[in-house]
Amino acid sequence: MEGMRPTPTHLRKILVRQRTLPFPRGQSGIGGQVRCQCGSGTFLVHYAAERIESAPSPFLRTVKHEGRFFFIVKVQCVSCSADHVLLDTHRHGWDGLLCSSAEERDATPPSFRRWACHSCGGEAHAVEIELGGDDKREALLNAEGELTGANWFDAFGSMNIGVKCSGSCPPTIIAECETQ
Ligand SMILES: [Zn+2]
Ligand SMILES: [Zn+2]
Repeated sequence: MEGMRPTPTHLRKILVRQRTLPFPRGQSGIGGQVRCQCGSGTFLVHYAAERIESAPSPFLRTVKHEGRFFFIVKVQCVSCSADHVLLDTHRHGWDGLLCSSAEERDATPPSFRRWACHSCGGEAHAVEIELGGDDKREALLNAEGELTGANWFDAFGSMNIGVKCSGSCPPTIIAECETQ
């Protein structure tokens, strides 16, 4: 049910739970805009992932690097330069929380690249996130004691990341990541 799922801990200071971009799909769960603590909603989007050039628009998927898989998306505020990690699949979501090893968390990811709009080449973007996953009862049951009432919502099962460049191009979903 919309509104029942608390914001994951690592996004609490930067996710404003209000959708503005007309993304084509809404899933059950929560969504909102990314807003820096300085007030700005414009970011450079950096990723340690593989950008796939497909029609109608490119997207990101997991990249293999030195024998390990990585998927990290972080945004840098254009106003104050603060970095905010939106998703690191070794640290966030169900698998990141419950299934990843210390070695995976500490492994060095491939170099970050900067997302450019495929239409205009612009690098400054507004960013929105959608999150879904088990509800509280299911999450606590499925985690078999490894989650509590205080962190079950950190074990989300999927995250979509959408961006909209500062130009007049339409918004694009750049990541649809299963994290469970
Ligand atoms: Zn800022
Ligand atoms: Zn553009």
